[in-house]
Amino acid sequence: MTGYREYHRRSVEQPQEFWAEKAALIDWHRPFEQVLDASRKPFAAWFRGGLTNLCHNAVDRHLPERAQQAALVWESTEVERSRSYSYAELHREVQRMAAILQRHGVQQGDRVLIYMPMIPEAVFGMLACARIGAIHSVVFGGFAAVSLATRIDDAAPKLILSSDAGSRAGRVVPYKPLLDEAIARAAHKPEKVLMVDRGLHAFEPVAGRDLDHAAESAAVGDSQVPCVWVDSTHPSYILYTSGTTGRPKGVQRDTGGYAVALATSMRDIFCGRPGGTYFCSSDIGWVVGHSYIVYGPLIHGMTTVLYEGTPVRPDAGILWRLAERHRAQVMFSSPTAVRVLKKFDASFMRDRDLSSLERLFLAGEPLDEPTASWISEMLGKPVVDNYWQTETGWPILSIAAGVEALPPKAGSPGVAMPGYRVSVLDELSGEPVPAGHKGVLAIDWPLPPGCMQTVWGDDQRFIDTYWSNFASRQAYSTFDWGVADEQGYVTILGRTDDVINVAGHRLGTREIEESISSHPAVAEVAVVGAADEVKGQQAMAFVVARDASRTADAQAREDLQREIMQTVQTQLGAVARPARVLFVSMLPKTRSGKLLRRSIQALCEQRPTGDLTTLEDPAALDQIRKALADQA
Ligand code: AMP
Repeated sequence: MTGYREYHRRSVEQPQEFWAEKAALIDWHRPFEQVLDASRKPFAAWFRGGLTNLCHNAVDRHLPERAQQAALVWESTEVERSRSYSYAELHREVQRMAAILQRHGVQQGDRVLIYMPMIPEAVFGMLACARIGAIHSVVFGGFAAVSLATRIDDAAPKLILSSDAGSRAGRVVPYKPLLDEAIARAAHKPEKVLMVDRGLHAFEPVAGRDLDHAAESAAVGDSQVPCVWVDSTHPSYILYTSGTTGRPKGVQRDTGGYAVALATSMRDIFCGRPGGTYFCSSDIGWVVGHSYIVYGPLIHGMTTVLYEGTPVRPDAGILWRLAERHRAQVMFSSPTAVRVLKKFDASFMRDRDLSSLERLFLAGEPLDEPTASWISEMLGKPVVDNYWQTETGWPILSIAAGVEALPPKAGSPGVAMPGYRVSVLDELSGEPVPAGHKGVLAIDWPLPPGCMQTVWGDDQRFIDTYWSNFASRQAYSTFDWGVADEQGYVTILGRTDDVINVAGHRLGTREIEESISSHPAVAEVAVVGAADEVKGQQAMAFVVARDASRTADAQAREDLQREIMQTVQTQLGAVARPARVLFVSMLPKTRSGKLLRRSIQALCEQRPTGDLTTLEDPAALDQIRKALADQA
């Protein structure tokens, strides 16, 4: 066996040979003609000419060997239900959903937006789209009408798959009213809305538009819907993510490259065993859910657990009880979830038979050392940090124990994963900085298979956003600061842009600012992320009111604060609601009018504000200081 460094060197120096070998991990209906089409840099087209299908690779391919093995296990502590689907049953359910989609005119290339709680039908919907070559766009159930409307307009779905309601910590969260409002706001109107009625929240179907999933299922019966063979470069899905502007970007993923990358990661990084159980406690609305609840484990012939619930209900032992019950071999969660558990009595975690469990993977936000060692000791298992983004679809940095278990380094997610030519660059020139120096973490062309192909419908935005940040070099910017050591271990030092990370959820401060600005009493606003012990970061909003009387006394301030928080909650969703709204009469800006978010953030975190030579009026910072002191 070669060591990891040699393995990685080959993956980046001979990418064609390396990925041609990995391509054998999945089924191809027709072999590809070209491993990497480099004719349109910085775009990269992997396995051009090859015909394949994601659903075939995730489901049908396993039927000869695994028809009776559990493919999908659904556990809901919200509605106290669980259900297991074998690969044969999953195959049947997915075909049924595909038949419904086809019956209502959904064809290859059409978009289907999925706005669903964590229920099996959401997974059937994703796989059904992949089966017939339709492009899904899953929108996280915690997003509200305005967020949803933006995505409806951008993806222009022919059909939306949704449900009456989700449930969060035992409380019903209606989806249908938000969906109806979003459709009313959107310029694009979907032809059909397919409703899975869970009986949680009564609703009035819209005549001629809304379809009842149960009735449709009965109508199509046990239909057989063959997989549509699509080109490797055919888009499998769009997943929106936040950036510097108020407009989310649709990350577009291909088919063949994604399947090959996931299959590779299942072996090299996650060390998953076909037939074993993979339990990822994320949500299908995020990239982790796409790659490691749905596609990765299934492509690898594992049993995947879909969990509707929180890590602390009915008590803080629930994740480990589920892991025990399903004999999880691999677990995947977030640092925030672990930090939440840390507050509870550890006996919830002990006394569980976790002998099947090999590793716990954590991602989505920086993993602090005390949290990592606490959970690792508690479980008596290795904890593996991994760093990646919606854009890349699978880990950029981690430890590939399936190749060679390099020693972990505290505070670093690890080294570059196969195919990633990672470097730390000077933020302006793009020249590599020496080991031990801070710079922007970048990836040289080509991004490996599985990474984003482009921004949906906007190739230019893909080039301008990701590939145009350095003067001397066309490299992909991760928008994260990093520092590498001599051995190639990279430590992540936070975002270079205005993106914040609350409990592993990526939020654009611009989006939150735009939402707050829509409140009629607001003249100006700045939103920053401030360090938080449990959630990593929390959003803080500093608001200048139009009319001073709205902030004249404590009661008036409290009322306006509540209204502003409610505005964000109804427009964007509870995930985006700022933790605090504080009032000032001016915001710190440069002489050219640019908001000094970083100085505000520094004050929130009680750090020095740094260079303020460009600040227009120092009194603005004093106001921030005072607002913070008053609320303390
Ligand atoms: P998302 O696209 O929502 O997955 O967010 C990606 C961003 O989350 C990255 O650009 C990082 O800023 C942060 N992130 C994800 N995983 C890690 C990690 N393991 N360590 C540090 N930051 C992380």
